[in-house]
Amino acid sequence: QAKSRGRNQFELYHTDMHRNETKQMRMENFLRKALEKDEFFLVYHPQVDTKTNKIVGVEALIRWKQEELGIVSPADFIPLAEETGLIIPISEWVLKQACEDLKKIHLNGYPNIRMSVNISALHFNQEGFIKSIHSVIHHTNVNPHFMELELTESMIMPNATETIDKLVKLKQIGLKLSVDDFGTGYSSLSYLNRFPIDTLKIDKGFIKKLCDYKEDFSIVQAIITMAHRLHLHVVAEGVENKKQFDFLKEENCDLIQGFYITKPLTFPDLIDFLESWDYELFF
Ligand code: C2E
Ligand code: MG
Ligand code: MG
Ligand code: MG
Repeated sequence: QAKSRGRNQFELYHTDMHRNETKQMRMENFLRKALEKDEFFLVYHPQVDTKTNKIVGVEALIRWKQEELGIVSPADFIPLAEETGLIIPISEWVLKQACEDLKKIHLNGYPNIRMSVNISALHFNQEGFIKSIHSVIHHTNVNPHFMELELTESMIMPNATETIDKLVKLKQIGLKLSVDDFGTGYSSLSYLNRFPIDTLKIDKGFIKKLCDYKEDFSIVQAIITMAHRLHLHVVAEGVENKKQFDFLKEENCDLIQGFYITKPLTFPDLIDFLESWDYELFF
């Protein structure tokens, strides 16, 4: 009996594995066709300046709408895109689309808004990375001073010398650089004044717990102070309520991003949102 149960368990496990594998392969096959089928789109998440309550920037976030799978979140397909190398053409599409939409935002009467784009580690480490960034900036004819690339600690840490070289080149193009999910990655902080970065984005994990734990209160406070001492700007992401917003404003966090302001918006919704945003009424 034990033996047959053992075998059944094995078969169950085997079928499960098989099912997962085919699910993964199915998604991979869909992903391969997604670009040519024009299934990706970007949503934009506004950033508010706590000093003026004005919208000063937006972050581009990719979405995938697949006929059978519906809307797939980037957390679910970016890892697969990285495994398959598909992330390179996808990233180039994102950057191009974001640049083109930024120009439209500027033309719509918001000439000071900045655009942030998330960069994948695989793309960053690719041979032609700088060239590909440069080429998109050049071809879309966007003003690079209004473009910001979001990098993570884990992608800039491993090869410090090589990375600094790359970051310097990106700065020479005129781009802004930020460190996304700050506080979740690497333990060494020595890179902060050695790397030519402009902004730290405090990970939403710290913001979520802000009002519950004294410790997170102190951590966020310390990150803001440290960033300012190093002449870096600070963005808090994942701000969901007034309590968090007021605390961050009080602590001089420069920019706020989160569902408290709005969910990420499609391009037309973003334009409507900018139109209706009244910084004098927002507290
Ligand atoms: P991220 O860059 O740290 O983006 C922030 C994520 O937090 C977004 O999720 C955003 O929708 C979500 N968020 C913002 N405010 C709030 C809030 O107040 N509450 C909560 N609960 N969530 C909030 P999203 O769009 O699902 O993106 C997840 C991650 O996928 C991003 O994290 C980024 O690392 C990656 N990603 C998104 N778009 C791209 C892209 O175009 N290229 C690459 N390489 N990665 C991307
Ligand atoms: Mg980001
Ligand atoms: Mg991220
Ligand atoms: Mg983040």
